[in-house]
Amino acid sequence: MTTIEHAFLGVNIVMATGFERRYSWRLAAMCGLCAIAPDWDALTIAYSLELFGLAHRVWGHNFLVCFLVGLLIGCIDYRYDIVSRVLSWFCRIFRISNLDDNFSIRDRFSRLGLVVWIIFAEIGSLSHLVADIVSSGAADLPDWELKLLFPFSERGFIYPMHSWGDVGVTLIFVAGMFAMLKWNLKTKLIARLTLLAIIAYIVW
Ligand SMILES: [Zn+2]
Repeated sequence: MTTIEHAFLGVNIVMATGFERRYSWRLAAMCGLCAIAPDWDALTIAYSLELFGLAHRVWGHNFLVCFLVGLLIGCIDYRYDIVSRVLSWFCRIFRISNLDDNFSIRDRFSRLGLVVWIIFAEIGSLSHLVADIVSSGAADLPDWELKLLFPFSERGFIYPMHSWGDVGVTLIFVAGMFAMLKWNLKTKLIARLTLLAIIAYIVW
């Protein structure tokens, strides 16, 4: 999946549980962030193509690093409310000032909240691996295996069912997003239907 599709997947997973109603939009945003995080290894392209070929879908796309990155993001975001700070920075840049208290920096914490944050951080992070295993290759791109057991094993895993960059998945997520805007009391049902539609589309 592309970066935006991974983010949509993470957000929809939280909304399909309805947990964002109790823990706010921040939980969905954090899960979306964790769902794109494993692609940090693609940043190696800034150094060289050789390093990118060596690192991408290896260094960040394995169970060990995914778990650690999810844990790190979950803990840091819960403590410092990174997603709200990014939103407030974004609003300052675009001079948006009419946000209500729901968007202010969180100042209440609990152990249960931290546990919920870590669980969804891990789910978001692992959703990336599942999505990349089934979404791989394209007309001019070969399948790209994930080394899920790195650094303990070099064995590659891939089960391509859907071409990377196929716009159908993006369109389903966007349709789901607009449906949530229109029927905002039915977001849980719409998120579940969106995920089911994504699975059906990929399998088909
Ligand atoms: Zn990836």
